[in-house]
Amino acid sequence: MGDSLNIRQLAKTVCERLEAHYGKAISSRSLPPIDELVLTILSQNTTDVNAGRAFQRLKEQFQSWDVMLDAGEHAIAEAIRTAGAFRVKAQRIVASLSEIKHRVGRLDLSLLEDLPLDEAKDWLTSLHGVGPKTAAIVLLFSFHRPALPVDTHVYRITTRLGLIPPKTSLKNAHVLLESLLPPECIFSLNHNLVRHGRSVCRAMRPQCATCFLCDICKSCRH
Ligand code: SF4
Repeated sequence: MGDSLNIRQLAKTVCERLEAHYGKAISSRSLPPIDELVLTILSQNTTDVNAGRAFQRLKEQFQSWDVMLDAGEHAIAEAIRTAGAFRVKAQRIVASLSEIKHRVGRLDLSLLEDLPLDEAKDWLTSLHGVGPKTAAIVLLFSFHRPALPVDTHVYRITTRLGLIPPKTSLKNAHVLLESLLPPECIFSLNHNLVRHGRSVCRAMRPQCATCFLCDICKSCRH
């Protein structure tokens, strides 16, 4: 109990210091949920630029997501070649969108708005090709709900800080971090950890000597 209180305080302090240093991030993108889901699947294991190009191609080539689904997997794969792993991604897009249509009756995710957060996540992750990070991105960006996408930067830094134990599974990392963090800081934290991971707490040779989290970080080597 004491530990969990301390770790909550640590999580809050990390949020505050990151905001003091990098600023309070505000959402710069708010795509409709189906768009966000498609874009996020396209972003898996590639750059934002490549994913963005592939997404644009889909929007230009097909009048709507329904038209795209009718065109079929092969046509989609051809349109998204720039995204890498295009056949797998086309298959995931078709499977997840078809399942949404089957369950809801149309391509609409607005039911997630009112579901408790855990249920909304379970609903999304039960779709083929949708893992906890993709689900959190859709919920955070399209619904502005306090879900934290745990990418490589978020996972690395929160492990180094001691917020999650080493070797925590990705699924558990999502659950643990969201239980520790004040909901109002999650959007900013996601943004700021990525910035911190690129500039200071890099995968190789973290810059602990200049890091403003050193005095509260379990892994500080300075
Ligand atoms: S002190 Fe070092 S390991 Fe800890 S967050 Fe900063 S750069 Fe990363």
